[in-house]
Order: sequence, then structure tokens, then C-alpha cells
Amino acid sequence: MLIVQKYGGTSVGSIERIQQVAKRVAATCDAGHQVAVVLSAMSGETNRLLDLARQISAQPDARESDVLVSSGEQVSIALLAMVLKEMGYPACSLLGHQIQIETDDAYGRARIKNVQTTRLLNDLKDGTIIVVAGFQGVDARGNITTLGRGGSDTSAVAIAAATQADACEIYTDVDGVYSADPRIYPHAHKLARISYDEMLELASLGAKVLQIRSVELAKRYQVPVHVRSSFTTDEGTWLVQEDQSMEDVIVSGVTSDLDQAKITLQRVPDRPGLAAKLFMPIAQDNVVVDMIIQNASADEKTDVTFTVPKGDVSKALEHVKCASPEIGAGNVVFDAEVAKVSIVGLGMRSHAGVAARMFEVLAAEGINIQMISTSEIKISIIIDAKYAELAVRVLHDAFIPSTELEDQARRL
Ligand code: ADP
Ligand code: ASP
Ligand code: MG
Repeated sequence: MLIVQKYGGTSVGSIERIQQVAKRVAATCDAGHQVAVVLSAMSGETNRLLDLARQISAQPDARESDVLVSSGEQVSIALLAMVLKEMGYPACSLLGHQIQIETDDAYGRARIKNVQTTRLLNDLKDGTIIVVAGFQGVDARGNITTLGRGGSDTSAVAIAAATQADACEIYTDVDGVYSADPRIYPHAHKLARISYDEMLELASLGAKVLQIRSVELAKRYQVPVHVRSSFTTDEGTWLVQEDQSMEDVIVSGVTSDLDQAKITLQRVPDRPGLAAKLFMPIAQDNVVVDMIIQNASADEKTDVTFTVPKGDVSKALEHVKCASPEIGAGNVVFDAEVAKVSIVGLGMRSHAGVAARMFEVLAAEGINIQMISTSEIKISIIIDAKYAELAVRVLHDAFIPSTELEDQARRL
């Protein structure tokens, strides 16, 4: 079998950890498999590099920033390949441009367009363990690009898809995908399997265990992804095609996302074309607007409220302040102390009253809901950031049945 194994920052955080990773890779090789390994930078390294750049400028040059931050992965792959060779295994480290992981030229958040497989497949056939730098690629003009935070997940899935690997194992510091971030809610439980669509929602709503783009690719190319711990040999969570029985579960996961800010433009005249005038410059500046609400009002003026990622707040505010007098609107207010809390589950398609129950649970805790948005398999709300953890806990308890083991523990 051909297996792609991706190890995250904590899993390669020290020489000792890299030696542990090498043992696991070697064991997979000994079992008769071809192995391509994709690594992140050692934990903390990408942040350290970004911080160096920020000491030079608040907005460092995007091209040079990618040259800088991609260097973290160059270190970890060289170290792992060295350890494997010391152990007597044929290994070879490769950077994104050596393989030709081709991306567009959007520095800092590039998208993979194609992965050249000739060299990869030839080396693998010869029994070499390929150790690939995650998070990086190369654009059409030969410039180094990076794929956005958490991008090594995407490198791994893209390589698995391109080489038609039998499995893509994502080794991380938790032993699978949980019904809520186990660091926020210790009673969350590990999901044995999760559908691609649910994982897409969870990843986009704040569960950073997988980068969203990796899930998109896994779904499109039907890559069997197994999220598991590099510290144990336990089975983790498999990403799978949905089946009938999955709709029985109303809610699979609860997420919170504190990287949100809310902007309100007051007293916008209720006329066609004004929303376009307001949002077009924001979109052209590459700011992703998430939730939007607009209420019809009696005096033909309405407040428009929307959310953007915290890092984009100043850009968005500039555009709104500029547009406001042009469209005859009033004041602009913003609130960065908000959180988006969401529940996700395939069963929402076929069960009524999920939203009502969610609001009831939050009301019982005195949590005020500021905005709501829904899709077929998720409901998201914006609340005061200070209630984020409480909301995750109470929603988890209300919607996700505890496991048998937990029940037993409670009875004891
Ligand atoms: P890596 O460095 O291995 O890529 P990350 O830090 O990117 O690891 O992702 C793993 C982290 O994702 C976990 O430590 C956990 O806190 C967080 N996380 C958030 N939501 C979930 C979830 N639903 N299930 C599992 N982990 C989650
Ligand atoms: N090293 C990069 C980051 O910290 C990519 C990754 O770890 O997936 O975001
Ligand atoms: Mg990650």
C-alpha cells in the first residue's frame, strides 16, 4: 500500500519527537508499505518566523514573507530524513518546488493547482521514504508560496490525491476529531468516523484540527483520511462518505470561533444597490465577510450588521466609513469581543426544531444571541465572546448524548 503520513508541529517539536516519528515511519515501511511523509515546522517555529517579519513591518512584503515562513518546514524534513538514514532507511527530503507542488500566486494563502508525481512515484517505487515539506508550493514563475496556517494538512491530502495513496494519515496532538475541541470541553468524545461534509463545516467554523482546504480536497478526490495521535497507536477518526445511518445523529460537533469581529452600519437607506455598494469594496480588498443581517424598518432605514475575521477589521472599517456618506447611511460601530458558536450535524436535515432547542438552551444560561445563520447541516450564532466556552459546554450536553463509558463513570 502507499501511505501518506502527515505530522504536525507538536509531533516534530524536538529531536526526540522526530526520532519517535522516524520509528513510526520505519515501522510502516517494515510492514511493506511505501511511505510519503509530509511535515509541518517544529512547533512554535512558524509563529517565531512571522514575528521576525513583523519586527520589520506591520505588513511585511508578501513574497519575502513566504520565503521566510516556508523555511520552518525545510528544517524539520531535513532532520527527519537524517534520522531515518541514521537508522539505515533510504530517505530523501524534498521541498515544494523540487517536487513541483504547483500553486497560484496568492502569497500566504496560495491554492494548490497540481502536484507533479513523476519523481515522487519513481522514488517511492525504489523503496525510498519521501519526506516532503508541508505548507509550501511554487507558483508559475517559480516563486515560493505558502498555503495558509495549517496548510500542511492540505499538502498531505493533495499528495495523497495525486499519488492515489491508499490512506492519508494526519498525525496530531489529539487522537482524533472530537465532538468539541477537547481542550475547551474535556467531556467531548472522539468520533470514530465523520462525513466529509460535516468535517468541512467543523473546519470552517473553528475546529482547527484540519485545514478546511484539506477537507475540500479529500472530499473531491475521495481520499480516505485518518486523523490520529502521534503519541499513541489508537485508531483515530476516519473521514468518510456519508451513509444513511449518519443522519440519525442530529449533532456531531460543537465549535467556537473567537476570530470574529462584528461591524454595524446604522441607518442604511432601504434602496436597491446599496448593499452592493457597501460590500463590493470590502470584497475587492479580499476580506471575507461571513454573516450578514439586515432588518427591514418602518422609516425606510435599516441597520446592516456583518462579521469579518478579526485581522481584517481595520481594512473593513475603512471601507465602511468611506461608503457610509456616499450611500447616505449613519454611524459605524464595531465589536471585536464576539464569538461564533455553531452546532453541526447531518441529522439536522431531517429533524425539526433543532434551532428552537438551541436557542432555548442558550436562553436558560442567559446568553444573548446577536446574530444567527443556518445552512442545511449547521446553525451558527454570534454571542458575547465571554460566553463562548459556556455555550459550547451547554450545547454539547444538550445535543450530544454522553457515551456509555461516561454514563458508567457517573453511575459509579
Ligand atoms: P497540528 O500541529 O498537528 O497540525 P493543530 O494544532 O493544527 O495540530 O490541530 C490540533 C488541535 O486542534 C488540537 O490540539 C485541538 O485543540 C484542536 N481542535 C479544535 N477542535 C477540535 C476537534 N473538534 N477535535 C479535535 N481537535 C480539535
Ligand atoms: N507550519 C505551518 C503553520 O504553523 C503549517 C502547518 O503546521 O500546517 O501553520
Ligand atoms: Mg494543524
